[in-house]
Amino acid sequence: MTRSLCLFLLLGALAYAQNSSLKEVDNVYPDAKALYLDLHEHPELSGHETQTAEKLATRLRAAGYEVTEQVGNTGIVALLKNGTGPTIMLRTELDALPVEEKTGLPYASKVQMKDDAGHDVAVMHACGHDVHMASLLGTAELMARTKNTWHGTLMLIGQPAEETISGARAMITAGVFTRFPKPDVAVALHVGNELPAGMVSITPGIYNTNSDSVRITIYGKGGHGAMPQSTIDPIVIAARTILSLQTIASREVKPGEMVVVTVGYVRAGTKNNIIPDQAELGLTVRTFKADVRKQVLAAINRITKAEAAAAGATREPSVERYEGTDLVYNNPELAEHLRAPLEASLGKANVVTGSPITPSEDFSYFIEQGVPGFYLSLGGADPKKFEEARAAGSRLPSNHSPLFAPDADPAIHTGIAAEVAMLRNLLNMSAADLHKYSARQPGN
Ligand SMILES: [Zn+2]
Ligand SMILES: [Zn+2]
Repeated sequence: MTRSLCLFLLLGALAYAQNSSLKEVDNVYPDAKALYLDLHEHPELSGHETQTAEKLATRLRAAGYEVTEQVGNTGIVALLKNGTGPTIMLRTELDALPVEEKTGLPYASKVQMKDDAGHDVAVMHACGHDVHMASLLGTAELMARTKNTWHGTLMLIGQPAEETISGARAMITAGVFTRFPKPDVAVALHVGNELPAGMVSITPGIYNTNSDSVRITIYGKGGHGAMPQSTIDPIVIAARTILSLQTIASREVKPGEMVVVTVGYVRAGTKNNIIPDQAELGLTVRTFKADVRKQVLAAINRITKAEAAAAGATREPSVERYEGTDLVYNNPELAEHLRAPLEASLGKANVVTGSPITPSEDFSYFIEQGVPGFYLSLGGADPKKFEEARAAGSRLPSNHSPLFAPDADPAIHTGIAAEVAMLRNLLNMSAADLHKYSARQPGN
């Protein structure tokens, strides 16, 4: 064949792939959308995803998958074996957040649940994990219907408790890679409003941040609000501590290094005329580099203890790191390799290159088991609203906002098309070729 004929056929094949990928998604879309609406209206908190897991497991079983439930609490593993070839994993999260939905959508959540501390909280899929589950179901159905386009083993994971950074570890402890085939590559995606629906973004290398959750308890001495002389006021110590913690990023760490230190909650006191005997602060800490992470955690410890000492507190505060995860590292060669199938499926203009983001994720635990990973950003914003916000110099509500409302139809369509494109490509490679992608997570 001549070179120009080859090129002509290739371009024709790409155009066909693009049209056919959208068309074939239409065939499975009604099931995906129905699951999305149901899940969005009935979210469940981290570690309590029993109905969610059951709904997804039932549908995957109906699509022909061999499904095992309760792998690490509510986790699910669904396998579809299709001859010899590599094992490729696709992961979705199952959990929602303690957020009261204010989107006004007809299918908005009105769910209330008790959280692990026994408080009544409103629950919402404010992180878009319902989009991920719907996409995974559409992908599962499409892959099952087109077994002639790939070979090997497709492994779908429904992971609980991502928001509390505990579900991936629980699944690993429960044997996700020992009771089931260990994948040669793992992929996942996350929807967000930073990109219009219909588009995806590839971030080679560092994808997101190291995350650490820190709980600080400051011990004072309680008493009458009108008699401060007989007390050591933990609220005043907390206030000073909060402000001093802001100097870590601004004064201690080298300018240009990525550091976030956020105090996300303050709990102290019951009544205006009582000085309480303790105050609790909840922090989230984000970094890119292992040495910066160490420096910031040490500074939090030092500042907290010094502020309490400065106020004459007789008991040292407790500084407890209670959750944490390492950053997700997209193997750069694997990320670049997947660009071609994504462009062929979604159109070249719809695949862009992103830069690292600050939210975190426990997908890194799977990669740290020696599985090369790729994590894709999926556009979720209504394209018109996205443009209007950009023109006005503002931003659409982010994940975790009570107003987070992805443009579900194009986002889920694109999610399915992107997942199918990546999975088919990887499942047509040999395990030996896939093993050249290292699973190394740098600097942690
Ligand atoms: Zn989230
Ligand atoms: Zn999320």
